[in-house]
Parts: sequence; C-alpha cells; structure tokens
Amino acid sequence: MPELILLGTGAGPGVPSFFCSCPGCREAWQKNEYSRTRSGAALKTGKRTLLIDASPDLRAQLVREKISVVDGVFLTHWHYDHYAGLGELEYYVKLERRERLPLYLPPSAVQQFNGAFPNLAEVFSLTPWRFFNGYDFDGITLTPLPANHGVETAGLLVESGGSRVAYFTDTAGLPESSAEKVRGVDLLICDATFYGENWFPESHMSVDEAIELGKKVEAKRTILTHLSIHYSRAVTSEELEEELAEHPDVDVARDGLRLELL
Ligand SMILES: [Zn+2]
Ligand SMILES: [Zn+2]
Repeated sequence: MPELILLGTGAGPGVPSFFCSCPGCREAWQKNEYSRTRSGAALKTGKRTLLIDASPDLRAQLVREKISVVDGVFLTHWHYDHYAGLGELEYYVKLERRERLPLYLPPSAVQQFNGAFPNLAEVFSLTPWRFFNGYDFDGITLTPLPANHGVETAGLLVESGGSRVAYFTDTAGLPESSAEKVRGVDLLICDATFYGENWFPESHMSVDEAIELGKKVEAKRTILTHLSIHYSRAVTSEELEEELAEHPDVDVARDGLRLELL
C-alpha cells in the first residue's frame, strides 16, 4: 500500500530549538516523541520513494525511518528549512546511486539552487515544476498548487486510486484556485505554525486558522503540521492534543507519522 511518511513536522527553528526553554521545548527535551524536526515528507509508491522537500534534518530523518533509497525530490519552495538538506544527498548519489537524482523545484528557484550549491550540479537533474501540471509517480499523481507564502510556493495534491491528500506545509490560507482543487480531500496536512497570535498572517497560519481552513475546504480530516509551538504563546504538544480532542476530525502531526494511501 502506498504511504506518505511525515519526516518532519516542525517550523524553521525545530522543537526543541537550541535557544529556547519554553514549555513546548522542555517537553521535547524530556520526551523525544514530542521533538519536531523541520518539515518534509516521503511518498512511498510501493516501487519508489520520492522526498517532498529536503529539510536540514534530512539525514537524521532518513536514518530514523530506515529509508535507504531515494528516487527523487520535489521541493515546495526555496526556504532554508525546506531545501537545506539537498546537500545531504551528495554522497548517496556519488557513492550509491551513481546517476543524477531528479529534482523538481520552483521555476524561480533554479538560479538560487545554482548559486547555493554549485558543487551539486552533477548530483541532480533539475526540472522546474509547473503549477496545475500533474506529475505521475507509479500511478500516483502529484499536482503542485499555488500557496500564499511570499516566495513562489506549491502545496501538493497527491492523488492515488482511492484517496486524495493535500500537503500544504507553508501557506496562509489558500488561493481560490487551490481551494477549489482540494475541496473534499480525505486529508489536509496543513500549516499551523502559530499557537495563539499569528505573527506572519501573510505567509503562515495559526492552529485555529488551520482548523477553519480544513472546514472551509471540507477536508474529511485535517492534520496540523509545521508547528513552532513556542512563538507567540507557548504550548506543549500534550496540551495541544488534549485541546484538539474536541475536534474529532483534527489531529496534531508527529514526526514519523505514516499515512496510508488507498
Ligand atoms: Zn517552512
Ligand atoms: Zn517557508
């Protein structure tokens, strides 16, 4: 059965972040299951494994999930917490795979890739993705849809035979064109960076806003991810899970969560 593995579920600073001692970070120091590496996912089709984003924690994520073969990378946008792990794939490609790894990236990020990683020109074969274009991976279709995040950013609609999953880690609400496409999805995996006040309403969402978005697009289930939990109002994951128990259709993501696709 194909599956989507949430490799990381934290916002840019990670949880715990090294410079913070809020209750959420203290909880993660004490209980490793509440730590959150930077956001990304792996789509396992049954034949191949495609990474969605490459966080700076990529190596530890692949080791943790025992993923030893990677067949491609799909970048949602060019922000450090989503692309910095590309460098982790250099030795895999040179020593093990021995042929270039397909890298799908935002058209506007090609120049930035070349500037940031001149030494990886031989490691990846670049394909700038196009919004609303479907990309087939072993019968599963990935469609990049516009997100509201300042820089050119995609969320992904993942469609397999029996399920539709929308993966939007970094977005402030959805443009109408994307909302239309994801209406009625089985699963909306959604940016919920902030607990309490949203400091960046142009580019991220709060927990409450993410829950609202799930209702608006009539998602059957909403999973909150890209959590910072220590910005405006600190909260522990245990508290958040307890609070959300009153929303049976909403779950808090955890690193390593596996979601089966029908
Ligand atoms: Zn991010
Ligand atoms: Zn971002």
